[in-house]
Amino acid sequence: MNIILLGPPGAGKGTQAKLLEDTRGMKQLSTGDMLRAEISGQTPLGIKVKAIMDSGALVSDEIVIEMISNRIEQADCAQGFILDGFPRTVPQAEALDKMLAAKGKKLGAVIQLVVDENALLARIEKRASESTTVRADDNADALRKRLAVYNEQTAPIIPYYEGKKMLKKVDGMAAVNIVSEQIDKILG
Ligand code: AMP
Repeated sequence: MNIILLGPPGAGKGTQAKLLEDTRGMKQLSTGDMLRAEISGQTPLGIKVKAIMDSGALVSDEIVIEMISNRIEQADCAQGFILDGFPRTVPQAEALDKMLAAKGKKLGAVIQLVVDENALLARIEKRASESTTVRADDNADALRKRLAVYNEQTAPIIPYYEGKKMLKKVDGMAAVNIVSEQIDKILG
């Protein structure tokens, strides 16, 4: 099955995606990880997106749409993939629908990790203070900016998927194992 994990930075999408990889053989596709790999590899794309990512803003829709379109064709996605951090804008969600239709693939579920914003700010600030600067955007200012960007640009995809009757909500504030049980129930 192919699914989307949706939720603001720090909601636990990456943690849940990794658990699903282990238990179901699905492949986590994190556009953030892919972009960070481009930066470490100092590729032309990495050089282009570094400053944008460091600031906490979004890179252009075209870049991530092309990345995902190529990636989901690869053999390790045959058992299903978990989109983590994509789509992040309504145009990305629309492009995803088109590319899946063109490739004869389908989305099985869109799972929203619902979190309390104040608790989340505390969580991401803690993460920023503990970060050994592995991620340049893991400082409190950039994280706050990423949360604002989420509310402005990504939250509108929630009604988009509600309208398609695809959205399932999960309590993202619960313990990791409880969140994962809720997701398991949805996936059946
Ligand atoms: P993440 O690891 O998902 O929090 O992503 C880290 C950063 O990568 C974001 O703050 C954006 O700059 C960029 N990024 C990741 N995914 C996307 C996306 N789908 N659209 C635009 N920018 C993205």
